[in-house]
Amino acid sequence: MKIITHISEMQQWTKENGGHSIGLVPTMGALHEGHLSLVRAARKESGRVVASIFVNPTQFGPKEDLKNYPRPIARDRKLLDEEKVDVLFYPSAREMYPDGFQTEVRVKGLTEGLCGKFRPVHFAGMTTVVAKLFNAVLPAKAYFGAKDYQQAMVVKRMVRDLNFPVEIRMLETVRERDGLAMSSRNAYLNRMERIKAPMVNLALDYAEALIRQGLRDTDQIQTEIRGFLKPFVSKIDYIEVVHPENLMPIRRFQGTGLLAIACYIGATRLIDNRLVNQHGTKVPGTYYAKTTS
Ligand code: AMP
Repeated sequence: MKIITHISEMQQWTKENGGHSIGLVPTMGALHEGHLSLVRAARKESGRVVASIFVNPTQFGPKEDLKNYPRPIARDRKLLDEEKVDVLFYPSAREMYPDGFQTEVRVKGLTEGLCGKFRPVHFAGMTTVVAKLFNAVLPAKAYFGAKDYQQAMVVKRMVRDLNFPVEIRMLETVRERDGLAMSSRNAYLNRMERIKAPMVNLALDYAEALIRQGLRDTDQIQTEIRGFLKPFVSKIDYIEVVHPENLMPIRRFQGTGLLAIACYIGATRLIDNRLVNQHGTKVPGTYYAKTTS
């Protein structure tokens, strides 16, 4: 696996490998099976695979975990090498944001709800860096996880609005055996918190069961889920039922809705979500992406 740290060298490599379709998997490292599932999909669908690792400072708020974010780079390199990734793009913050950097790429409506309300700088930082990664790597396809559903939808919007020639693939959330969505941040959980953490996924099961039983009023669904989660969490940012495409809150459940939760177990912020149809049946994470891309 080749390691590239400079944007110009990355662009040159892409030029030289121009005959192949390139699949990009953008990550912040501390890789787990969720990331690797994206790499494997890219491996299957693309002639060349580039994975990027960049802990992007501009998508962290001043009180967030930028400093403590795990950076096990030797382990990450080994994992990507084993997955036969062609290039690890591993730029420094200086390379991505040289002195005088002044540009921001910001998607409006889709970033206003859900995590956008609680992480005001997050999405603008994320779209700016993803736009830069697309320009550095020039991929034909880029792979995102449904765990960060809002992120994937925001990137899709940016790609359409700014005509990036990239197909966005959103793939299903990979979970631990007990249902906890895999996340680099799970490493922050202590033993007791780790035992509580799968309750977030169970809360989604509970919401799904309520819908299956015919509950349609989303205020009532939210109240039920809040009561269910309360004993296990230290704080709830949101429990929402939103339209899967425009991410606007739904008052009465019909068609397909996205159930989304952000909460804290101890000091660790966890997010999870699930697409559910009006029969209270799980909709696979890739389904919606397939029908809209
Ligand atoms: P991150 O390193 O957290 O920025 O995540 C990089 C990519 O991996 C994003 O597209 C995430 O949505 C995706 N990802 C993170 N966790 C999971 C998971 N449990 N299952 C599938 N994809 C994931």
